[in-house]
Amino acid sequence: MMKITIAIDGYSSCGKSTLAKALAAHLGYAYLDTGSMYRCVTLYALRKGLIKDGSFIKENIINILDEVNLRFQFNAHTKASDTFLNNENVEKEIRMMDVSDNVSKISTIHEVREHMIAIQRDLGKNKGIVADGRDIGSNVFPKAELKIFMTADTDIRVQRRFDELSSKGQHVSYNDIKANLLSRDYDDTHRKENPLKQAKDAIVLDNSDLTREQQLEYILRLIKDLTLTAD
Ligand code: C5P
Repeated sequence: MMKITIAIDGYSSCGKSTLAKALAAHLGYAYLDTGSMYRCVTLYALRKGLIKDGSFIKENIINILDEVNLRFQFNAHTKASDTFLNNENVEKEIRMMDVSDNVSKISTIHEVREHMIAIQRDLGKNKGIVADGRDIGSNVFPKAELKIFMTADTDIRVQRRFDELSSKGQHVSYNDIKANLLSRDYDDTHRKENPLKQAKDAIVLDNSDLTREQQLEYILRLIKDLTLTAD
């Protein structure tokens, strides 16, 4: 079957990556977590002491971009790909709260976006990819054959994130998670460059009351319809 590009965008902690990973595994496609790329730049900047109390000098961040080498590697144990920053597996570190608290500001920098988007387009040039993020359908892969815009009730999203972090041994309060999520949603939808917005041809998926299996089934049906229409 012809390979397509699948773009999944949406608010923070909507379950985009869970759905994207399941889809990629089912279809034998590559999975690209674009959020992890912005998180790596943020983690690297934090480690270098370039972000202090949420403030940074833009030029300093731009100057480190060439030092940030990103790589994704399949992990047979989790059956998903891990993110490597300069050959270090940082899958856990990039999900920590200090990274979450700063990533949306770092991702507003034009040069950061330009750099990341060039890598993303290169990784997706042969199709057969499921990419998730904020601007995938609207900007990174505007010709993606299937675009999904995900949303879910805020409290359900907070609870899911709380459960995820707790299961990884990170104890963050429900209210801190909620505040981080709402502020990232605000920053992501209000930034000037490539803000989070629904692409005109995207299909909205509100997964507040859907199980993982139902979501996967729904998207697979959409893909089937797409392929039938293309025939
Ligand atoms: O998807 P995730 O929550 O890991 O993304 C972290 C942050 O990276 C988002 O809140 C957003 O600020 C930024 N991001 C972005 N564009 C993307 C993916 C993520 O600006 N395509």
